[in-house]
Amino acid sequence: MKAVTLLGSTGSIGTSALSVLRQHSDEYDVYALTANHSVDTLFEQCQQFEPKFAVMLDESSAELLTLKVKTAGLSTEVLSGEHALEEVASSEGVDYVIAAIVGAAGLLPILAAAKSGKSILLANKEALVMSGQLLMREIVASGATLLPVDSEHNAIWQCLPVGKRQKYQYDGKGIRRIILTASGGPFRDYEPSDLENVTPEQAVAHPNWSMGAKISVDSATMMNKGLEVIEAHWLFGMSSKSIEVVMHRQSIIHSMVDYVDGSVLAQMGNPDMRTPIANALAWPNRIDSGVLPLNLVDIGRLDFEKVEHNHFPCLALAYEALEAGGTTTAILNAANEVAVCAFLNKRIKFTKIPIIIEQVLSEQTSSSGDSLEQVLADDKEARSLANKYVN
Ligand code: NAD
Ligand code: MG
Repeated sequence: MKAVTLLGSTGSIGTSALSVLRQHSDEYDVYALTANHSVDTLFEQCQQFEPKFAVMLDESSAELLTLKVKTAGLSTEVLSGEHALEEVASSEGVDYVIAAIVGAAGLLPILAAAKSGKSILLANKEALVMSGQLLMREIVASGATLLPVDSEHNAIWQCLPVGKRQKYQYDGKGIRRIILTASGGPFRDYEPSDLENVTPEQAVAHPNWSMGAKISVDSATMMNKGLEVIEAHWLFGMSSKSIEVVMHRQSIIHSMVDYVDGSVLAQMGNPDMRTPIANALAWPNRIDSGVLPLNLVDIGRLDFEKVEHNHFPCLALAYEALEAGGTTTAILNAANEVAVCAFLNKRIKFTKIPIIIEQVLSEQTSSSGDSLEQVLADDKEARSLANKYVN
């Protein structure tokens, strides 16, 4: 039995991961489940999986959950606070940590898992965007394994040379380019002038994927693809010039690797996150994910288009931040989190998101990013600047 800690179990990735784990309960034991404040959902999950630990971020939610767990006679111990997230991510008995918290809140528990040598199934791309340098250093030093769950990166991982996948360095290794596919999100056919008055409800209605609110807005601005370019840079050691984005409306090809001999390897599948989760969980083996077989005849065709960078300024900002290096990508991420949250709360227009990020990037001076303190300080400063522009 492998013991699994699932960080962010009540979210979109979290529930997909539980669906895979449920199908393989003879192989994987749920050690800990964690959530921000969804007491009822986490309680239902405790009833189904009876983990050793359940963590709620805030104390009052933890008290409510404790009461429910005790009344139901479950053996689960309820903990609270950020430190408890780090504890369950690094406990000795844990083999796999599924990192499915959204945003910067995922960083410290992921670092704790990395330092203690776990196999980390990474959905939380923000951690790599904030501190790719630090996180990769910890992974290599402890011998931890980083398994990409983001569908594009999992696709690339599957298309890389077998046996070399834990090296995280592919530049100059026979690979010409990495090609990330992008659906283009809900506004791919809008004129830039039509974006002025789009609502949060329209932005989270993704044409191909069902996801949490933050990543759905990121997909609409295409900041998601920008974060993924940065994520690919750290996971595969490729320079920004060797990472390209192509629009592919159907989300069937999840990404591609272009080799110098002209071979292009692609990974295909229905757009369902249970596939990359099951792939990462079972790697280097394969397990059933519960996803329906791909029906190519029904799909009929696969389309590819150029991404218009002036239509999606967030993507260009992400490339620029990656090229600038240091904590610039942490600043980009923090400003984006603040702007997206303000848009979801109807405090700013959709078109303000890239403007605020650009303002923060031009006002704030970045640092080298080789210490956690620096990363956290620059993240904090970027949040306060972004809030100033929101107001
Ligand atoms: P979500 O909003 O549906 O779920 C987020 C989870 O994190 C919830 O369990 C929530 O309780 C928890 N959480 C939120 N804030 C927290 C905090 N401050 N402290 C502790 N826990 C907190 O998000 P999601 O769509 O599942 O995405 C999760 C991560 O996976 C994101 O980083 C996203 O970019 C990445 N990802 C998601 C998808 C997808 O299909 N949803 C695909 C690829 C990558
Ligand atoms: Mg993705």
